[in-house]
Amino acid sequence: MPHAIDLTKPTHTRSFRRNLLTWYREHQRSLPWRKTRDPYRIWVSEIMLQQTRVAAVLEHYKRFLKKFPTVRHLAFATEAEVLAAWSGLGYYRRARMLHRAAKLVATERSGRVPQTAAELRILPGIGRYTANAIASIAFGEPVAVVDGNVERVLERLLQKKLSGEIVWRTAQALLDLTSPGDFNQAMMELGATICIPGVPLCYDCPIKKQCASRGMERKEPPIPGKRMRRSSSLLLVRRRDAILLQQRAHNERFMPGMWELPEAASEIAREPLLRVKHSITTSDWSVSVFSGPVPRLALKTHLVPLAGVSQLPITGLTRKILRKLNLLS
Ligand code: SF4
Repeated sequence: MPHAIDLTKPTHTRSFRRNLLTWYREHQRSLPWRKTRDPYRIWVSEIMLQQTRVAAVLEHYKRFLKKFPTVRHLAFATEAEVLAAWSGLGYYRRARMLHRAAKLVATERSGRVPQTAAELRILPGIGRYTANAIASIAFGEPVAVVDGNVERVLERLLQKKLSGEIVWRTAQALLDLTSPGDFNQAMMELGATICIPGVPLCYDCPIKKQCASRGMERKEPPIPGKRMRRSSSLLLVRRRDAILLQQRAHNERFMPGMWELPEAASEIAREPLLRVKHSITTSDWSVSVFSGPVPRLALKTHLVPLAGVSQLPITGLTRKILRKLNLLS
């Protein structure tokens, strides 16, 4: 039985925060709302991300902020303009509430977004999670967030069901008070990319040493020390300043919805552009990357401008390859 974290021991909670934050700062997906402290922009991203996947939000977020770059622009737009800019994201009630809240901020607070979670919660469409997310990320207020991802991570970490107020108190007890915004985002990122629903990727988890459930949800536990060697061939298709990427299906067990290079036909005989080693869970992959023409069965592929690649959720292997080829910074 692994040694689970004991929340009453400061040495345990300190090391948990350190490991999680170090991992997050190194591995976080590069997303546009993570590059700003502007509370309005963070607020818009949080509302868009409710019930919508990151990949679907990316384009809408940029378009929406281009049209309404400040809370005043949004407040003074017509409802039809706001709904048109929201088009494609669904759940239009979110857009109406955001618009109503922006009007209140513009008229009653001179366009200044409230700086505390308590004040934010008074605005239409902002609940406890959203208020705490905006206050911690934009203003550094030490308030924890709980969403489905965080709840799953906490329940697995402590290997017990946490419900209602207890899950919020547990999240608050773990929160890093000096970097609450990064910590909250790190917990959500861990739940979205490593401690995923179904079978978690415990092997890659930065907090596995303190987790009571580590590896316990694997259907077939790996034999210690026995790792599988595998190989694959990928294709790098470049058209001027764009490359061909494909999106993994949303019902994939691993990395659903993430973007990656398409597979190359197995009969390619020439020398690869690049060879990389990549370890995932229990497998060590040897990956060859070939340059080549667009594959014939490229139904789910898209030419993505290089400048926009870092804003897509790409797999770790794809990021590694593109960096090695100097196509991504
Ligand atoms: S070790 Fe596994 S179960 Fe525990 S938090 Fe990490 S991914 Fe989740």
